[in-house]
Amino acid sequence: MSDGTVVILLGPPGSGKGTQAARLCADLGIPHVATGDLFRRNLSEGTELGEKVRSYMESGQLVPDDLVTEMLFDRVARPDCAKGYLLDGFPRTLPQARALEKGIDGRLDWEAFLLDVPDEVLIERAVGRLICKSCGKIHHVKFTAPRVEGVCNACGQAALYRRDDDAPEVVRERLAVYREQTKPLISFYRDRERLAVIDGNRPMDEVHADLTTRSGRAAG
Ligand code: AMP
Repeated sequence: MSDGTVVILLGPPGSGKGTQAARLCADLGIPHVATGDLFRRNLSEGTELGEKVRSYMESGQLVPDDLVTEMLFDRVARPDCAKGYLLDGFPRTLPQARALEKGIDGRLDWEAFLLDVPDEVLIERAVGRLICKSCGKIHHVKFTAPRVEGVCNACGQAALYRRDDDAPEVVRERLAVYREQTKPLISFYRDRERLAVIDGNRPMDEVHADLTTRSGRAAG
């Protein structure tokens, strides 16, 4: 018997991974491990790692595998991840997926979900995204607009910002990178018969309900 579950959330930029991950983690009571968020924290704190990854992030390219996997394994080695965790934005390449498989090594169960969303919807979602610097809540200028401009609906702080890499040309590059480097993971997980494809082009609550039902099994 394993001690807990690793939930792997796959999906292109703008598929709603971040929003769904936060809600699912609250339901399952497991930590939300988002490699993009970890890098952004390093960037804003001006760490050595932050400086190493800045140019990749700003141009929408992937950070080299060794930097990502080292940071990821440091994070999930912390005690709060002992009984499972949710991965948002990792793995993104086949070497990362293989490293993860080796790292989990049967100690935890795992289950992968793909949030499937058509390309034309992805661009609109990503370029309209606003994030709260204070509490992390994700808004969208059209679909979940802030009630007061620049102010977070969830925590009330005037802390909304647009990610630099949500500029339209960088979003297009991130989608191209996804197609080239991350899409092959779909067959990697399909081959292991552990991939559930979720239609992500539905209202947020419906996607959430679907994920919760299916991951109920994952959570044991
Ligand atoms: P995200 O917030 O998941 O969209 O990630 C933002 C950026 O962080 C990406 O465009 C990459 O530059 C970098 N990044 C995050 N996760 C990974 C990963 N698993 N592998 C490589 N680069 C990553």
